Amino acid sequence: MPDIIQLLPDHVANQIAAGEVVQRPASVVKELLENAIDAEATNIKLIIKEAGKILIQVIDNGKGMSQTDARLSFERHATSKIKKAEDLFNLHTKGFRGEALASIAAIAHIDLKSKQENQELGTQIKIEGSVISSQENVSTPKGTSVAVKNLFYNIPARRNFLKSNTIETRHIINEFQRIALAHPTISFSFFHNENEVYNLSTGNFRQRIVAIFGKKTNEKLVPINEVTDVLEINGFVTKPEFAKKKRGEQFFFVNDRFIKNAYLNHAVSGAFESLLSGGYFPTYFLYLTVPTKSIDINIHPTKTEIKFDDEKTLYAILRSTIKHSLGQYNVAPVLDFERSASFDTPYDFKNKTSETPKVTVNPDFNPFKSDIQKSNQFSHKSEKMPKWDSLYTGIDVQNIEVKSETVNSSLFSETSQNSKTYQVHKKYIVSSIKSGVVYINQHLAHQRILYEEFLENITVKEAMSQQLLFPLEIAFNKSDIVLIREIKEDLESVGFLFDKILDDSIIVNGIPVTITESQITIIIEQLLEDIKNDIPNASFSQLDVMSKSLAKSLAIKTGTKLDLKEQEDIVNKLFICKQPDVSPFGKTTFVTINIDEIDKRFNN
Ligand code: ADP
Ligand code: MG
Repeated sequence: MPDIIQLLPDHVANQIAAGEVVQRPASVVKELLENAIDAEATNIKLIIKEAGKILIQVIDNGKGMSQTDARLSFERHATSKIKKAEDLFNLHTKGFRGEALASIAAIAHIDLKSKQENQELGTQIKIEGSVISSQENVSTPKGTSVAVKNLFYNIPARRNFLKSNTIETRHIINEFQRIALAHPTISFSFFHNENEVYNLSTGNFRQRIVAIFGKKTNEKLVPINEVTDVLEINGFVTKPEFAKKKRGEQFFFVNDRFIKNAYLNHAVSGAFESLLSGGYFPTYFLYLTVPTKSIDINIHPTKTEIKFDDEKTLYAILRSTIKHSLGQYNVAPVLDFERSASFDTPYDFKNKTSETPKVTVNPDFNPFKSDIQKSNQFSHKSEKMPKWDSLYTGIDVQNIEVKSETVNSSLFSETSQNSKTYQVHKKYIVSSIKSGVVYINQHLAHQRILYEEFLENITVKEAMSQQLLFPLEIAFNKSDIVLIREIKEDLESVGFLFDKILDDSIIVNGIPVTITESQITIIIEQLLEDIKNDIPNASFSQLDVMSKSLAKSLAIKTGTKLDLKEQEDIVNKLFICKQPDVSPFGKTTFVTINIDEIDKRFNN
């Protein structure tokens, strides 16, 4: 038998390695920014086009490369940063694998220019799919510029796998923020499709945080500083009253490197324990400095995980330091963040409602209007509906099922003996039905109702909007503004109106009739979080996430007392939903208890 094992050609090995190093444009951004930092740049510029799919370029003023090094930098395992295995335990650079440039060069077009301080001329290298197509002398400023074009041009499957521009941009912004937060003494700028996203001048940690997350962040920060033998902690947590519903802004840096660590995160949450009500997460920016020997950053190729020698001690120190600092800042215990449970009916706003040229008013869009006229959007109802139609006695099921274009689903007419509903524990609506009793969870049922209404309103681009008497300015950080710009149209289709979207704030002059002015900020923040976290793919699913998010924010809460009419409205509206039996998040909205079951319990 002949031998069959062969060494893979370099370009194949590089492509395989690229699969690990480069998942998406953001991975390239991370590697290039890190190389610039390792080259001791003091000024770094990031330019992307089309969410990095067309171009990712990083220009630095660092130490540059010689002609030979510039060529070598694209070889696999070519690095200037470590020489021997022991160096792995004494790392002071971001990179050390010597893999990034080789991997990127295998799956993109590269144009590199670099010049060292003492050189007359710099060098320019062009590479396509691992092959150097040219190298020549050029006049270029000191430092390095790496332009990565047409990422995954030669791996269509990977290119097609990329998410929408919104999502890929979000990933890039995340990487950029992490690196910029870790290095406030370096100035950074970031351009996307020629628009400036960030322009960060040098400063301290606090200034950098504020520059990224907006002016209002400043007053929210509680400083954390502690020096011990095993670790130094610097940075900030935000006061508990500014906690968020989602774990959005939580940053750990270890020796200037962003890391994720669930265990240490737990230590921070623990310090906030009695200060936050359930479901709220603290925001933090914590910079830990530990001896390089005490950590191992080698366990994950993209290096956001890290292993500590003595995690338990770090945990204890971190927790007590934050607890202490929060105490010093005299943070009042137990704050209740839940919004007022009162259900804001839109009726108050009826008179204030003003039509605007942009948004068509859909008079049917009103969560508590009992006279429901559904469009033929719901004409498939009869196929998709569960057996609710047989639940109720004394109603003309035929009528509802067939004439779906004008369903009059007043299941409970005032006079009918079946019209009685009761509210139990301010949580369930109970009603007698043909087969027994139905229990409807008011919060989940209302979520379902609103979700379908929003979805319909977003997709048909019709919504009722109420004009604000005084336009409201709300501050957002720049990356959120980028996202708001992307979803502006969708927001308008549910009833938001924007006077202006500025660099770090928005001016709202109209809102959906279903919300009140005091809820605007929290609803938009929640929405942005949900979109960021859900990472929706196609634009449809973005609308879906948005409808879900709004439904979740706006649904009447458990604990809200409902009058008879409101109870009936929920019941009526629930059962004309396409999918009344589950909430948009898959939870059961109602249960029925059969009369036989009830009978059985009496027959003991
Ligand atoms: P690593 O960063 O792990 O060493 P890379 O593939 O990212 O591997 O880079 C290979 C080498 O190229 C680096 O070790 C460094 O010497 C050089 N290099 C890369 N980017 C730059 C840059 N922006 N400025 C100067 N040198 C660079
Ligand atoms: Mg590198």
